[in-house]
Amino acid sequence: MIRRTRYLIVGGGMAADAATHGIREVDLDGEIVMIGNERVPPYNRPPLSKMLWYGEPLDRIWRKPEKEGFEVRLGRRITRLDPERREATDDHGDTYAFKTCLLATGGRPRRLPFGDDSIIYLRTLEDYRRLRTLSDVYERFAVIGGGFIGMEIAAALASRGRQVTLVSPQRVLGERLFPRDLAAHVTSTYARAGISLRMNTTATGLTADDDGLVLHLHDAASGLPASLTVDTVVAGIGIHPNVELAREAGLAVDDGILVDRFLRTTHPAVYAAGDAARFCCVALDRQIRVEHEDNANTMGYHAGRAMAGAVAPYDYIPFFSSSLFSLDYRVVGELDSRLQTVEDWIEPYTKGIVYYMDDGRVRGVLLWNVWRLVGDARTLIAEPGPHRPEELRGRLVEPR
Ligand code: NAP
Repeated sequence: MIRRTRYLIVGGGMAADAATHGIREVDLDGEIVMIGNERVPPYNRPPLSKMLWYGEPLDRIWRKPEKEGFEVRLGRRITRLDPERREATDDHGDTYAFKTCLLATGGRPRRLPFGDDSIIYLRTLEDYRRLRTLSDVYERFAVIGGGFIGMEIAAALASRGRQVTLVSPQRVLGERLFPRDLAAHVTSTYARAGISLRMNTTATGLTADDDGLVLHLHDAASGLPASLTVDTVVAGIGIHPNVELAREAGLAVDDGILVDRFLRTTHPAVYAAGDAARFCCVALDRQIRVEHEDNANTMGYHAGRAMAGAVAPYDYIPFFSSSLFSLDYRVVGELDSRLQTVEDWIEPYTKGIVYYMDDGRVRGVLLWNVWRLVGDARTLIAEPGPHRPEELRGRLVEPR
């Protein structure tokens, strides 16, 4: 069967949903078909590792879909894309003939070479439901990985009174993100919250015995093997962008689907947005691929407008936010502890700003329990400089 549509959206996540709203703002009636791999309509992903664990009701996660001229087909995957013929085929054998297509294919969790389905990789609503059910029943949890998922879910499980051990090859939490003293503070906050930290440690295998799951470890500091018996293992060790469809369609791919300033791939009828798309961030003067909510929403929306004819450059510096127990932070631009950092605390490690600098320019701003300065941080990052570190203290001040 051939389904003809003006717009085909491949993917059913946040970028995909945002694109439908971008399209509709410009084109009031062009038909949109969205193909989503998950069996549920688009939802907001961040609550899965944050707000849902702290009392937010599940029904708040759903996005508000377009109503007119919009069809979403769930539980399907596009398996072949032919940009020249402007056709795509799904795994049910249906073909879609489109005028413009968006690849909002997102990413899938990197997996450990052991453990198979005994390990939960928290990415989808289904993963959340599984973990949440287990957390109602079991006590002992191992969390592998000290990135965003690892830090957020360890805090969430500990807040529900579970015994949590976090296993990470890093020396301290946030080692690659925060200045050394702040990373040390975050680490001690986790320890004080009762989370057992196995830093400098990699997980090497998973077996089972009468008492539960046995996670095998290697402690790099001692060089000795160790093990840990738990009821549930969760891992957050990064994602792979889903680029295979684009690559097989002959589109340029390099750690992400490459797009130009207007979010077009190397074929003008095909756009890409969200976690899978790599774009040039003009203010940072380099290509980036961003795996966070604000970029998915803004880039998806922007791509949707462009697909409908409102073509404009995507000159945007995305931000993201996270929470670690009572600490909340927002990040604009680059967060890389290898850059020069300038710390400007109102109250040390409780409230303040960290500037990340390179070669006289501000590359990133960390707003630590500071909320209303995202726009000002963007402006600062876009300035050519040169900035001197001592001038930055007091440069951004939260309005009263
Ligand atoms: P992530 O933030 O990229 O962190 C992955 C972590 O796993 C890194 O610290 C990495 O260490 C570590 N790692 C890699 N291989 C490992 C291994 N074999 N054993 C133990 N640790 C290992 O990815 P994530 O936490 O899985 O999150 C998945 C995606 O969701 C990311 O794109 C993230 O940005 C996004 N997310 C965002 C938010 C937010 O915006 N607040 C919240 C949750 C998730 P190295 O750095 O040393 O390689």
